Parts: sequence; structure tokens; C-alpha cells
Amino acid sequence: MSDKVRKTEAEWREALSPEAYHVLREKGTERAFTGEYENFDEVGMYRCAACGQPLFSSDAKYHSGSGWPSFWAPVLDENVQTKTDRQLFMVRTEVLCSRCGSHLGHVFDDGPEPTGLRYCINSVALDFKPMGDEDSGKKS
Ligand code: FE
Repeated sequence: MSDKVRKTEAEWREALSPEAYHVLREKGTERAFTGEYENFDEVGMYRCAACGQPLFSSDAKYHSGSGWPSFWAPVLDENVQTKTDRQLFMVRTEVLCSRCGSHLGHVFDDGPEPTGLRYCINSVALDFKPMGDEDSGKKS
């Protein structure tokens, strides 16, 4: 998955729902406890809702109580990028998809073992595929 996906903002706006566009391309945040994967325990892979790159396995998902789907690690380190985010008078670490540059959420250092990390990710930025359906090639 080294091929970068680049689209204009007009193309992203066309391709994504308004809610997904706001989070993925405008770095928005869905309201806590409203996302479809917050209270969700199926086995499979969470892909980038913008480009389809695999991001998080259900194996690394846990219930943080934060109100957003939480993972202690990405499926591959190179599939996400991090960036310092100084919005809202806080210094946080933003998490982006390495393939298309879309905003996913933030990572904090109050997660469980073995990494101690909490990837706090917007449901709308993810597209879940159940185990066994992962290679269907579908991206949305
Ligand atoms: Fe992506």
C-alpha cells in the first residue's frame, strides 16, 4: 500500500458523505458516543473510509470509555502518520492515513498494554470489513 492517493478537495467532497468529509478532510470530530463503531465488537479490519487502506484490526480494539472507537495500535505502523496538532489550545498528536492524508483522530499515551497508546478514532473515518470479507476489493 505505498501508492499515495491524491484527490482535490472537490473530488473528496464528491466522494464522501458530508459527515465523513468534515472529519477526514476538515479535521472535524464526531460527537462522543454517536459513532457506529464506538460500541461494536465484530472481528475484522477497519479501513480508511476515504481510500480503503487497512488501518486497525479488531484485535487491537478496546473499550476506553472515551466515546470513540479506541485501538492500542494500528495494523501496520506505516499505515498511519502522526502530526502535532495545536488546535483548540491543546497540544495533541493527530493521526492521519498515510495513503491519502485524511484525518482519522488523535493518539494519546493513556492506553493499555502492550503499547500504552490510545488511538482515538472517529467512526466515520473508518470502514469496517468483517473477517473473511477483507479482500473483496470494495472500498466503501
Ligand atoms: Fe486513507
